[in-house]
Amino acid sequence: MSTRGGSKTSRIERYVHHSGEELEIPVGTVVGARSGPKFGVSSGMHAGEFAGIHGAIRLFRELDPATLRGEVRIIPIMSTRAFFTRSTQLSPVDERELHFQPAGRPEGTYSEFQIDCIFNLLRDLDFHVDMHAGEYVQALDPWVAFADPTTNERLRRDTWRLAGSMPVPYLDPRQADIQDRFSELDQGLPFALMREGVANVWTEIGQNGVQDPGEIELQYQSLANALKRFDMIDGEPAPVPAQAILGPRRWSMESLESGYWQSEVSIGQKVRKGQRVGVLEDLAGNHIKTYTAPEDAVVQYFWTSPAINAERVPHGYPWHRGLIRLSELRPDAHRDPRLELAR
Ligand SMILES: [Zn+2]
Repeated sequence: MSTRGGSKTSRIERYVHHSGEELEIPVGTVVGARSGPKFGVSSGMHAGEFAGIHGAIRLFRELDPATLRGEVRIIPIMSTRAFFTRSTQLSPVDERELHFQPAGRPEGTYSEFQIDCIFNLLRDLDFHVDMHAGEYVQALDPWVAFADPTTNERLRRDTWRLAGSMPVPYLDPRQADIQDRFSELDQGLPFALMREGVANVWTEIGQNGVQDPGEIELQYQSLANALKRFDMIDGEPAPVPAQAILGPRRWSMESLESGYWQSEVSIGQKVRKGQRVGVLEDLAGNHIKTYTAPEDAVVQYFWTSPAINAERVPHGYPWHRGLIRLSELRPDAHRDPRLELAR
């Protein structure tokens, strides 16, 4: 439909990698009747993170062009092939992890090509939210993460205000020089968009491939709150809880031996230095290793699959060795002066 009252359209973008492998990306566009910023939403970078995918589809359905100021561009899933083959975490074509693929290398691997296509669909935006969750075998406590644009005050303020608008308890600012060993994130989509001047964050809400109504609602409210904060839609935002800043230290525990893993903590639990967090056994029930917290920390996520495969490390990515991720939560994390930027 297209009228003076704005428009709502959807299309499939089709691409072919130099290997001959195809890529399809669905894009919905809602153009408001009145002018305003360009705001992007994507989800399904990891195709089994359904709370965000569901939230994106709901936003496209519910946005009313007549009352929207500006434009909202929605990519509910970053590859129809990944979604429909139920490739919930890694690329169904080359088994790479999209979050760590660099934009700007369309001649590279299939996954590099894919992330460059996504980047080109988003690079002209003012704001962008990429929605993630815990995947099929991952339990997770909600937070919002972002590349912190420390050298551009305008962009920094917009990014923190975008993150701070969302009704989640934790903010997780990242800088390119502070990374955990899982991560080459500073080459990936969030940092590429930041360098292009797009204020952007990624949500981590939902878990275990479950379409939990409360988690879908939280993803949706995060988008709606952001659109309200930047005056693109009217309405009262959902209340935002007292927020705290995670980090900067984080501990990604992984196993160098295969076995049967059982976490002994819950998501969001605060653990003390030395406290047991889980145990690895062999398939006969013999003890291999007990894991303990290296410092006082909060449990951000853990793997709910017991199957730990130390040998399966596709392209160096240690996903099948992953056990648990702990983050530092400093005593003053609720009073960090950077939180002023988020209001
Ligand atoms: Zn994800």
